[in-house]
Amino acid sequence: MPVRATKRGAARTTLSGDWDVLVCGGSFAGLAVARELAGSGARVLMIDRYELGERQTSACAAPTAWLENLGLQAAVRQTFGALVIHTPTRTFRWALPWTFSTFDYPRLCALLFEQCDARFETAKVDGRTGHTVHTDRGDLTAPLIVDALGWRRVLSTAQPIQPPEARLSRGLEVHPPAGAADLELWLDPKYVRSGYSWSFPAGDEIRVGVGSFDPRDHVKEPTVRLAGDLGLDAVRYQGNWIPHQMRPAVEDGIFFAGDSAGHCLPTTAEGIRTALYFGLACGRELRHVVEGRQAREQALERYAAFCDEKLYAFRWLLRVQHAVGRAIRRPALTRVLGAMDRQSFIDWSFAHYLRIAPPEFALASPAGGPRAAAAHTAAA
Ligand SMILES: Cc1cc2nc3c(=O)[nH]c(=O)nc-3n(C[C@H](O)[C@H](O)[C@H](O)COP(=O)(O)OP(=O)(O)OC[C@H]3O[C@@H](n4cnc5c(N)ncnc54)[C@H](O)[C@@H]3O)c2cc1C
Repeated sequence: MPVRATKRGAARTTLSGDWDVLVCGGSFAGLAVARELAGSGARVLMIDRYELGERQTSACAAPTAWLENLGLQAAVRQTFGALVIHTPTRTFRWALPWTFSTFDYPRLCALLFEQCDARFETAKVDGRTGHTVHTDRGDLTAPLIVDALGWRRVLSTAQPIQPPEARLSRGLEVHPPAGAADLELWLDPKYVRSGYSWSFPAGDEIRVGVGSFDPRDHVKEPTVRLAGDLGLDAVRYQGNWIPHQMRPAVEDGIFFAGDSAGHCLPTTAEGIRTALYFGLACGRELRHVVEGRQAREQALERYAAFCDEKLYAFRWLLRVQHAVGRAIRRPALTRVLGAMDRQSFIDWSFAHYLRIAPPEFALASPAGGPRAAAAHTAAA
């Protein structure tokens, strides 16, 4: 179990007040939003039910270039230039045109927060009335509010849809202490009928898990079985629902970024890069507002349009997800992967996949990137 660092008892004082920007959620999306506001002079409050980095929300693998361009190399634990894919009858080893890295979640959150000049408080968000957010420590108001709270989309006033009816996948993993060299995936119905399983080494631990595209299918038993098949202990669990469909990025004057807006890529369930990407985009629009260069309404419109531009890619990947989900139980899947097993095709498809949320986007920071943010922090 993670060590609980969240404030308790007397330390949990009442929280109230007006802020320029209220960022609800202190994981990938929320931190990316706040980072883009550093040095703008805006009074930014970020809240999360846990301390920053206290609860890991994923296997923490992302394209290395994204981590480098955000100045987060110090959080990297292991880097991979190839992907190993197992089907019931064959194993493929694909050399990738770019690398993936696993990283240390608390360290990454700390490094990103160093690039912000926001205030952080632990508080559980219960809901919202207009531009007042209700938390277990009191009410907070701001003209600019971001929901980066994950799949529950807590600040939406729309009728909540719970799993299994909601368009969500589910994932569970264990983190046994061990080491390995390869980033591995299994497309094998012996673990999951519609989905995939993984083993992501991260220095002195391996993140082994199962994800199901169908929220009705349970993933605990196959996760434990996969760990057992790999000779690993099923210890230190973490799991969650994973949205596989985009939802409106703005609603009733509120901005949504990351999983709260369904910004996780279908098929692969890669949601860190996209939470950072849309979080940065949202933060840049908010920065224009606090610096008096556009009205809130314009920011809402421009951010919604930015997200809509990527809708086609998300829809396309959702179709691939449906196809993969059906194909897993058929021998034809191995034949299809065999046909894709050409370096020119792997380079082409992975380059296109990266372009959905390209790492160069992180370099165009209005705050001047990590170095400028570090200088700003030092000067403060
Ligand atoms: C098992 C598993 C493995 C995964 N592995 C990967 C991977 O390797 N690579 C990848 O790219 N993606 C992965 N994903 C997907 C990825 O985790 C998400 O897409 C990503 O975390 C989304 O980031 P986010 O900031 O939008 O939301 P989250 O990371 O979910 O953060 C939401 C934040 O809001 C806080 N919060 C929630 N509710 C409240 C509330 N009521 N009040 C206050 N705070 C609240 C939470 O504490 C949390 O800090 C994985 C998902 C799962 C389930």
